[in-house]
Amino acid sequence: LLRPLVAGNWKMNGTGQSLEQLAAIVAGLDALPASIDLLICPPATLIERASRTAHGSRLLIGGQNCHEKSDGAYTGEISAAMLGDCGASHVILGHSERRTLYAETSDLVCAKADAALGKGLVTIICIGETETERRAGEALSIVEQQLAASVPAGARAATVVIAYEPVWAIGTGLTPTAAEVAEVHAHIRALLVARYGSEGQAMRILYGGSVKAANARELLAIDHVDGALIGGASLKASDFLAIASVY
Ligand code: 13P
Repeated sequence: LLRPLVAGNWKMNGTGQSLEQLAAIVAGLDALPASIDLLICPPATLIERASRTAHGSRLLIGGQNCHEKSDGAYTGEISAAMLGDCGASHVILGHSERRTLYAETSDLVCAKADAALGKGLVTIICIGETETERRAGEALSIVEQQLAASVPAGARAATVVIAYEPVWAIGTGLTPTAAEVAEVHAHIRALLVARYGSEGQAMRILYGGSVKAANARELLAIDHVDGALIGGASLKASDFLAIASVY
């Protein structure tokens, strides 16, 4: 069994006041098993303060995106080095909201991942099919294409995490059946092993999309589900801790 990662993606939510929730997560860590990793990815404006709040605890802090270039004339953008400088150890890349709303392609996600890995950030690469694609029976092939094109050749188990997030399950309250999750995660595992050998065997594959305390036990028990990427339910400390406590 791989060491699970329970990760929260706050998306564009949170101001200084939200640090109270972060502090409550830190306060709740002792009640969780030592055998899991815990990560919160707040908006970029909170990363430095969040890192200070988490300092001395085992709560990890990450970003939600970075630019593919190391620096330069890219107004409004944030580099991988900047995330690290603020205390982030991880970064989420290729989230479906970025792919859909900001037209990020798998090639761009791969370039961003290379930039992040170059600066020592653990990179969580998101993939997942839309509802139309699932209905058309294309879920496995879409995931396969995104995985092949988004994950850099230099990916290692210690530095890359895959997150399977079916687009239609994000923020909708809908989740795939356990059998559907099992099928996709087993497929991702086989592809990772084919490409990366033993590193692919040890790479963590998270499930994301409407994870909440009520369904976490079932979802996190599925083969090759090595943790969760949680949106809405990561905003409240009690919800996030309740999900992590199923381990
Ligand atoms: P929800 O948990 O709100 O469905 O969001 C999932 C997600 O997109 C995490 O990255």
